[in-house]
Amino acid sequence: MKALVYNGPRDVSVKEVTDAKIEHPMDVLVKITTTNICGSDLHMYEGRTNVEAGKVLGHENLGEVVEIGDAVALVKVGDIVCLPFNISCGFCKNCERGLTGFCLTLNPGTAGAAYGYAGMGPYSGGQAEYLRVPYGDVNCLVLPDDAGEKENDYVMLADIFPTGYESTELAGVKPGETVVVYGAGPVGLMAAYSAFIKGASQVMVVDRLPDRLKLAEKIGAIPIDYSKESPVEQVLDLTGGEGADRGCECVGYQAHDSEGNEQPNLTMNQLVRSVKPTGGIGVIGVFVPEDPKASGKLEKKGQIAFDLGLFFSKGLQMGSGQANVKKYNRHLCNLIHEGKAKPSFIVSHELSLKEAPDAYKHFDAREKGWTKVLLKPAA
Ligand code: NAD
Ligand code: ZN
Repeated sequence: MKALVYNGPRDVSVKEVTDAKIEHPMDVLVKITTTNICGSDLHMYEGRTNVEAGKVLGHENLGEVVEIGDAVALVKVGDIVCLPFNISCGFCKNCERGLTGFCLTLNPGTAGAAYGYAGMGPYSGGQAEYLRVPYGDVNCLVLPDDAGEKENDYVMLADIFPTGYESTELAGVKPGETVVVYGAGPVGLMAAYSAFIKGASQVMVVDRLPDRLKLAEKIGAIPIDYSKESPVEQVLDLTGGEGADRGCECVGYQAHDSEGNEQPNLTMNQLVRSVKPTGGIGVIGVFVPEDPKASGKLEKKGQIAFDLGLFFSKGLQMGSGQANVKKYNRHLCNLIHEGKAKPSFIVSHELSLKEAPDAYKHFDAREKGWTKVLLKPAA
């Protein structure tokens, strides 16, 4: 089968690889019809992770079940399914509490497994014609009968819609509250969208890319361009000097200053200043335990200079981590099915698998108009 393979920094190509197949009685084999490129793929693409050459990338997957293992009870051949990017067993200590992003079974020695991702187990990604899904009954969300018509919405359930939603959960967003989101990439836009779903009274979105800020504005958020004026000052101005009730970090360790230089602690410290005393911060942008290619000494060890003193004296709360997609995907799916959510508003490109290497280049450069790329391997 054909798949998108990581060869080395900024070098990916579509190659013939070993066919995905049923390897365990609980496996499900899915023919991929939509698979997205994610901002998380770019950390690997840029050579800022320890992902090995030869890895098939792709963790935002949707497709049709073409084969099931003998022990699969729920999922049937022909079902259209969306797969959470985290692969989980469903029965370990973490999974049973809904923390499927921290499954203890599928990537022994660490907590959390995923398709096609650095440090998250041996699993191949879905930027390919077929995908092997372990523990199929646990990991397949069987979609309703409008799956074909709303495929570009439902595919967002694999990662960024639940991930954006989880950042609002970690921040503690409640109806009527004000929220600031750092980052207007796909994840930040989904966080802002989720904040509105939860009844936020005011949502501010910080970025410096005009096309992304325009999308934030389109869903009713207040765009904040951090390259023009301090985003902290702008948030304070918009909230009567108090700061927002809640803040979402949707950028991660590759945050850039207004001149475009990387500064990994930037958004975290700006959030501490943008959120009001006793407020909450949800950190969903990725931070890594080691980053040998970082320029700073601390950052190489996965550390940042964090304003803990101010964080403490303001009595702030914070949550972080890979999103537990399965905890939210069914309910967010219902919102899409009932026409109450349409996360495909961020889609800018629908391309073939063959076009993926070129798409990585454009999306990685955050080129104007490249907000979210969907690949269609079966088209
Ligand atoms: P993206 O790279 O497309 O978007 C990041 C955005 O942040 C860009 O628009 C960029 O201009 C903006 N940005 C950079 N520096 C900034 C700053 N100082 N202030 C405000 N905005 C700034 O990526 P994405 O797909 O939206 O993902 C965002 C982050 O979320 C990435 O780190 C990704 O790895 C992570 N992620 C985490 C999970 C999870 O489960 N925790 C899941 C998916 C993605
Ligand atoms: Zn993703």
